Amino acid sequence: MDPYDKREMLRDRRRKSRRQKKIKMITSVILALGLLAGAVAGTVVLMKDSSIMSEKAQAKAKKEVEEGKEKETKEEKKRKSLLKEADRLAAMYDYAGAIEKLSSYELSESDAEFMQAKQAYEASQAACVPADITKIPHIFFHSLIADNAKVFDGDAEEDGYNQYMTTIDEFNRIIQEMYNNGFVLVSMHDMAVMGEDGTMSKGQIMLPEGKKPFVLSVDDVNYYNYMLDDGFASRLVVGEDGKPTTERDLENGESEIGDFDVVPLLDKFLEEHPDFSYRGAKGILGITGYEGALGYRTCPTDDKNGYDESQIETAKKVAQCLKDDGWEFASHTWGHIRMGTVSAEKVKEDADKWESQVKPILGDVDILIYPYGEDINSFRKYTMENEKFAYLKAKGFYYYCNVDSSNPSWVQLGTDYLRQGRRNLDGYRMYHDLIDDSVDKLSDLFDVTKVYDAQVRPPVPALTGPGK
Ligand SMILES: [Zn+2]
Repeated sequence: MDPYDKREMLRDRRRKSRRQKKIKMITSVILALGLLAGAVAGTVVLMKDSSIMSEKAQAKAKKEVEEGKEKETKEEKKRKSLLKEADRLAAMYDYAGAIEKLSSYELSESDAEFMQAKQAYEASQAACVPADITKIPHIFFHSLIADNAKVFDGDAEEDGYNQYMTTIDEFNRIIQEMYNNGFVLVSMHDMAVMGEDGTMSKGQIMLPEGKKPFVLSVDDVNYYNYMLDDGFASRLVVGEDGKPTTERDLENGESEIGDFDVVPLLDKFLEEHPDFSYRGAKGILGITGYEGALGYRTCPTDDKNGYDESQIETAKKVAQCLKDDGWEFASHTWGHIRMGTVSAEKVKEDADKWESQVKPILGDVDILIYPYGEDINSFRKYTMENEKFAYLKAKGFYYYCNVDSSNPSWVQLGTDYLRQGRRNLDGYRMYHDLIDDSVDKLSDLFDVTKVYDAQVRPPVPALTGPGK
């Protein structure tokens, strides 16, 4: 080989090996860089992964805490509401109901507050005494005067309103005064109970010592045509809250909802003073039939006001709403007749009419309130020989109410009925108690000087006939 060629060959070899080294180096650098990049990327991926995990775990943990809290507040809410409900029952003297309410809570035995409340109710229950049901007064009203200016305007109706009716302010003051004096509203159905064998037996009303039971009723809850221009309520309705209230038609053709009569006013008072009612008792509403019921024109022969069959369904709903709210109904006869004066035939005919026209709206009714307070009998006990009584009893009437203000209370428990005298708390009664020092027919209930609307009423004329 030529030496030159040899050198060239060696030089070439060196060049080659240098190039190869270079390539190796570049390759390894690239490799190293690649690895590094991969590693960094991997770490990022890993980091990313772990951060997703922790977010999930955090959310889960957070959810668990929230669910726990929610469960706790739900539980606490249930607890609080049971305690509140029990407290309201106890306020209405239903201690057994209150204790039962507490016992419905599964943890009541290990809850100090529950046990404490239960003990307090048991103590209150033990301290109650039975009321003498033969000494329970019964007071009554008519629809309340809701617009003094329209009622005391000197027109033909003024004297009647002044004698037989009570203003809203007077009613509110009477209720407040009676509450202050320890009175508690009870139902006639608590005074005596009709057994399955057809005999009436004494009921048991258990109240704290010093509390005084009384019954309340309202006559002619019909919102008669003659009253509608004088600012009275026009009808009872179901309010937006599902509770009964009153509606009044206005001169411009519109109507307004408001507290225009006994039902919403007493309901409002009882909402704030549950201890004014014995176990949810409200009042008794006496209903006639000749101009419909509750302000609805449901009487087919009522030509004056016009019969509106479609109003029957509405009236039924209102009646159910009143019953659900604790109100009770009484027949005040279909035609507002004098039950003592008219013949037995007339009593039967009237009772049939009431049964066919009013009972379908109100449902079963076992209380009868005599119009004008006119009873079918003297103070002597009813017997089956009395044709009127026999017929009324067969129609399902077991509770009878007349008017008697000569005593604070008058109660007669027969073998098959309960009869009670009622005291009118109207303009006539209050005015004469107020102006005549020899008359005192109200002081056991309230102080008439604190109640009477002297600024509003003209002197109340003497009565020329019996009450309404
Ligand atoms: Zn009447």
